[in-house]
Amino acid sequence: MDFHVLTLFPEMVRDGLMNSILKRAAENEIISFNAVNIRDFAFNKHNSVDDYTYGGGAGMLMQAEPVYQAFSSLKLRDKKKCRVIYANAQGLPFTQQAAAELAKEEELVFLCGHYEGIDERVLDEIVTDNFSIGDYVLTGGELPVMVMIDTIARLIPGVLGNETSAVGESYQNNLLEYPQYTRPEVWHDMAVPPVLMSGDHQKVDEWRLMQSILRTYERRPDMYEKFRDEAMENEKQLKPKRRKLTKFFREIESEDKAEPD
Ligand code: SAM
Repeated sequence: MDFHVLTLFPEMVRDGLMNSILKRAAENEIISFNAVNIRDFAFNKHNSVDDYTYGGGAGMLMQAEPVYQAFSSLKLRDKKKCRVIYANAQGLPFTQQAAAELAKEEELVFLCGHYEGIDERVLDEIVTDNFSIGDYVLTGGELPVMVMIDTIARLIPGVLGNETSAVGESYQNNLLEYPQYTRPEVWHDMAVPPVLMSGDHQKVDEWRLMQSILRTYERRPDMYEKFRDEAMENEKQLKPKRRKLTKFFREIESEDKAEPD
């Protein structure tokens, strides 16, 4: 996957992404990063790319032409098909599902705004998708774009060292991940749950699923409701028998603090 980023701060994007797992994936040529400086396409002697907004109001706006020229300079495999994502606070919420869908593409272009944003006309002309990373306003699109690229990249086969490590993580199937433990067996008088040392994989899987459900119920009731409704409709997809799950749903909903057995 080729990630192209149009930004006023290419070093920030490169420095933020070229670390650890993503750096290794780039070195192994599974992914590539190309950060293009929009300022290189300024068309005035002051090298500025922003101007006052028509109609008045505080703040400056990025002009259409430098953004358009920066986009036009990209060497894309297929310019017509390539999705161009504008990170902005008015976009659709960026979710794990959106990341999984975008991870299927061969190339993506990300556009980072700054100041008060970008002249609407160039957005109308080049942008295919608008995504927000949350209901708050940042100073620029660089951090949101890095968040999105990181999330997408780790879903691309071969990027994570262990192919299975993205499986069963939070937000898949509307569940948060179960609690996890590593050595030592006892730390600050707290022991690892015995079931995890039983060697019984079926019991471990069941315990983890119940813990995931409980955690989702406590922390993300909106997701829990979706999971429960889907699980009840689609009983065969889940290993524990429906009766057991139904009982568990009833238990946690009635007591709020029921522990799984
Ligand atoms: N005037 C804009 C508004 O009210 O929606 C906010 C502009 S913000 C100060 C500057 C840039 O930061 C935006 O163009 C966008 O690229 C980025 N940005 C800010 N908040 C964001 C968010 N929640 N998600 C994604 N990008 C965001």
